[in-house]
Amino acid sequence: MTKGAQMYEGKAKKVFATDDPTLVIVDYKDDATAFNGEKKGTILGKGVINNRMSNLLMQMLEQNGVPTHFVKELSERETVVKKVTIVPLEVIIRNIAAGSFSKRFGVEEGTVLKTPSLEFSLKNDDLGDPLINDYHVLSLGLATKEEIATIAGYAFKVNELLKAFMLKLDIELVDFKLEFGKTADGTIVLADEISPDTCRFWDVHTHEKLDKDRFRRNMGGEVEAYQEVMRRLMGE
Ligand code: ADP
Ligand code: UDP
Repeated sequence: MTKGAQMYEGKAKKVFATDDPTLVIVDYKDDATAFNGEKKGTILGKGVINNRMSNLLMQMLEQNGVPTHFVKELSERETVVKKVTIVPLEVIIRNIAAGSFSKRFGVEEGTVLKTPSLEFSLKNDDLGDPLINDYHVLSLGLATKEEIATIAGYAFKVNELLKAFMLKLDIELVDFKLEFGKTADGTIVLADEISPDTCRFWDVHTHEKLDKDRFRRNMGGEVEAYQEVMRRLMGE
């Protein structure tokens, strides 16, 4: 596997071409951003943790019937993944009210939802990732009805698997964001990452935040929080 030219540099990762046109390498950075890039900083060691954690979780999901882009961990920060065309939607699942859901609907953070909810945001930084519904997705031609159903089905399945998995580590899965992509033959697979950057994780007993909210809300202790989730994942 040869690492080729950089194709893209995002806020948290870089994407490189490889000598195989169906594969790319993602390289995780320590850079952290919030509020659509307005707040910038670094979380020391985050790239190493997110790379490893995302790979462990994707492998767990794959073993349980969710197709993912994961192929092979190359190094501390680099992973080979299937190259996909990202469906430009942020797929957000919530079990407990927090963040923008709490604000939008006036529901106190921490309120357990009657049933998990799913929402889509359009993945577009210039527009501030606006909320978008299924009809909009169809009108804009971002995905077909069948693709929306497949994505929603996988997202709820990820929720059940990840919720149970994290609970064994005494972590509550509050909410999370997923991205899906299409391989060359049109297959929908889970892409991007699953990490404390993209999930809200709360300690089951203390409700302590173990995720990027510590950075977003200037609470401090973000490095320790990421390390703590990783420590529990590794069974230490
Ligand atoms: P952002 O673009 O939001 O700043 P990142 O810094 O995480 O995000 O950059 C990673 C980029 O790579 C994202 O745009 C993401 O959608 C994209 N991506 C994730 N997985 C794949 C994949 N398997 N193939 C191609 N692109 C991917
Ligand atoms: N999220 C994300 N990327 C985004 C927006 C949200 O990973 O661009 C995740 C976030 O970490 C949380 C969930 O999606 O786990 C729901 O976030 P919310 O809509 O409450 O937005 P926020 O409060 O982060 O602005």
